Amino acid sequence: MVTRSALIYLSRQEGLKDFATRFRPFKKLTTRFVAGETIDEAVEMIRQINAEGATASFDHLNESVAGENEAEQEVREYLRILAKIDETGIRSNVSIKLTQFGLELNSELAHKNARRVVEDAARRGNFVRVDMEASNVTQVTLDIFKRLREEFDLNDVGIVLQSYLRRTYDDAQQLLKLPARIRICKGAYNEPPEVAFPDKKDVDNNYIRVMQLLLGSGIYHGVATHDPKMIAATIDFAQREAIRKEAFEFQMLFGIRRDLQRQLARDGYNMRIYVPYGKHWYPYFMRRLAERPANLWFVLKNVLKG
Ligand SMILES: Cc1cc2nc3c(=O)[nH]c(=O)nc-3n(C[C@H](O)[C@H](O)[C@H](O)COP(=O)(O)OP(=O)(O)OC[C@H]3O[C@@H](n4cnc5c(N)ncnc54)[C@H](O)[C@@H]3O)c2cc1C
Repeated sequence: MVTRSALIYLSRQEGLKDFATRFRPFKKLTTRFVAGETIDEAVEMIRQINAEGATASFDHLNESVAGENEAEQEVREYLRILAKIDETGIRSNVSIKLTQFGLELNSELAHKNARRVVEDAARRGNFVRVDMEASNVTQVTLDIFKRLREEFDLNDVGIVLQSYLRRTYDDAQQLLKLPARIRICKGAYNEPPEVAFPDKKDVDNNYIRVMQLLLGSGIYHGVATHDPKMIAATIDFAQREAIRKEAFEFQMLFGIRRDLQRQLARDGYNMRIYVPYGKHWYPYFMRRLAERPANLWFVLKNVLKG
């Protein structure tokens, strides 16, 4: 898994980020995973997603902002997205990252900023998902989420857990008591073995354990994966336990396994596509390459072709 770690390492290099964002051929290739640079471009993609029977979640790409002003710009962008969803009538909610709202500068600022977005979403009857980032911010992300849940309802704001983290099953049990809506995913960052399972087999087993706990809770959760084994395990469990298709949703990333996205929607499952857009695509794009190093050869081949 050297390639995976190397790509995730590169995703964090600021110098490369600036270079890549300006390098035209590289930028062109991002269209495989990124829905464009503006809200309007993302809206067009979401219209197509809706037409194919799926819903969406907007993600304005940016993380680890440099200052309060940048965090403020992010809040305003999300308020514009929420207004745009209402204006256009597309079926979408939003996903935010707390580092985008200033978490690494000041956790109070991140809470205040997230609160503004959740408040606006709640007023509009929409929903905000707080993405989970690297393990150095897991606890503070959960703490801020719990505060948001005290201030807002179950259907206003939800959280993400990652099955590669050893702590996740316990976190899921605690969060269900709030109660909380959870997206379970495998996890996309480089984590040390003290906090995360190094073996894929353990990550997958934990995914299934947590998925079963969530689906059995009677709360509406998101099962985020492109892995046919995780999807089959979810469908099997739901059928065995007589859990209705409408009681949960599958979630996938824009541009990945479109065949499977369409198939699940056609089979009557709720399917939500996470739609990232914006100029700061570099770390997100590199994590997608890391998940499937074969994507790297596709990218290199196209860059060399010019
Ligand atoms: C809706 C959604 C939201 C997410 N939110 C978060 C989050 O908040 N925090 C976080 O840490 N992670 C998040 N992730 C990413 C997640 O943690 C995984 O890194 C990612 O989903 C890959 O894991 P997988 O379950 O698809 O399984 P894997 O075992 O990685 O992949 C299974 C199969 O899926 C396909 N596949 C997977 N990734 C790719 C790719 N990049 N390109 C092409 N094919 C691919 C391949 O066919 C692969 O064999 C999210 C994922 C989704 C779908």
